[in-house]
Amino acid sequence: MALIVQKFGGTSVGTVERIEQVAEKVKKFRDAGDDIVVVVSAMSGETNRLIELARQISEQPVPRELDVMVSTGEQVTIALLAMALIKRGVPAVSYTGNQVRILTDSAFTKARILQIDSQRIQRDLKAGRVVVVAGFQGVDEKGNITTLGRGGSDTTGVALAAALKADECQIYTDVDGVYTTDPRVVAKAQRLDKITFEEMLEMASLGSKVLQIRAVEFAGKYSVPLRVLHSFQEGPGTLITLDEEESMEQPIISGIAFNRDEAKLTIRGVPDTPGVAFKILGPISAANVEVDMIVQNVAHDNTTDFTFTVHRNDYNNALKVLNGIAQEMGAREVIGDTDIAKVSIVGVGMRSHAGVASRMFEALAKENINIQMISTSEIKVSVVIEEKYLELAVRALHTAFELDAPAGAGE
Ligand code: ADP
Ligand code: ASP
Ligand code: MG
Repeated sequence: MALIVQKFGGTSVGTVERIEQVAEKVKKFRDAGDDIVVVVSAMSGETNRLIELARQISEQPVPRELDVMVSTGEQVTIALLAMALIKRGVPAVSYTGNQVRILTDSAFTKARILQIDSQRIQRDLKAGRVVVVAGFQGVDEKGNITTLGRGGSDTTGVALAAALKADECQIYTDVDGVYTTDPRVVAKAQRLDKITFEEMLEMASLGSKVLQIRAVEFAGKYSVPLRVLHSFQEGPGTLITLDEEESMEQPIISGIAFNRDEAKLTIRGVPDTPGVAFKILGPISAANVEVDMIVQNVAHDNTTDFTFTVHRNDYNNALKVLNGIAQEMGAREVIGDTDIAKVSIVGVGMRSHAGVASRMFEALAKENINIQMISTSEIKVSVVIEEKYLELAVRALHTAFELDAPAGAGE
């Protein structure tokens, strides 16, 4: 008998019929003798609908109140699923994050889980009940409702699995595993049987939303066996694993991630004196804007150009701050660009292979795609390109690194 935490995402509980289907699935596992804790998201589209409602009141809603509201989406689905289970003769009980006591910090809309009280759940499991927990939400020390950031139900699932020392955490979604890249963009993408935590962490942080980055961090930290599976199709899914296989077959690149959520800012003709980077990025950071990629050009005529990227939501704010800095520093001009995208290749195989980056650049050059910025780490290379070329770039790289599914495979 195993203890399994199963998380079902928004599309998997998007209608009452689907919730009934999820209940059937959970029942099957239970009938086989496993203890089951289920984590569910809100019905697909519901979180967006709620955020939109708040925006009708205020462009920047008070984060505490936003969390009180968006957490309601999950409260609906836990109750519906518990009802569907009980209807099938499966004893079940639903809990909100507060009721379990998923304790978080007080960073509303992006709270971090600090501690989970597993006693209540353990008691229910012992009594033979399936426990259905609301994803995405917690409670801070003062009793305020918090949420964990978009896609946060994944993190609830993994954190519960860690707290309960579950045998496995299964993330059920609308794809049958983690693919070499988003299968909605590249039809020839292939499902991976396995991917390492390290690679999955990069993929998630570079834009693959199949798993929330914090869920992967948690799973790695607490060694939670994690698997991504299709909610309604049988299959092995993708196992997120600790071990890197040292095989000759190891592909150099495991996957390609991309992100349309960034914007680029350039400050031109800054007097090139010590401390330039600090003078520019200090105020940006003080304005609570996170910077991703940074490039500073070699100085000529005693001035330099400085370029960086930020989240698109922070673009207007960053632009305002940068215009102020430009005036103060006597810079020539500030240029902003929101029509950019970041494409990254990820793979632990890169460690043992030279020339990976140049192969990437060659593939992009062949398609006449201009690279605006580059950043590398041990297991990834990222480039910023014009947004309109994003899909072309991802497809070209997928082919160049021999990730395409053989003709006739899949679908
Ligand atoms: P859920 O609502 O179940 O949490 P998400 O929409 O958050 O589902 O995540 C699943 C989606 O992630 C897929 O539909 C797919 O389009 C997207 N995705 C992005 N990159 C990948 C990838 N490398 N492998 C699989 N899916 C990916
Ligand atoms: N419902 C939340 C969201 O849409 C959490 C989740 O689905 O994981 O972001
Ligand atoms: Mg998700």
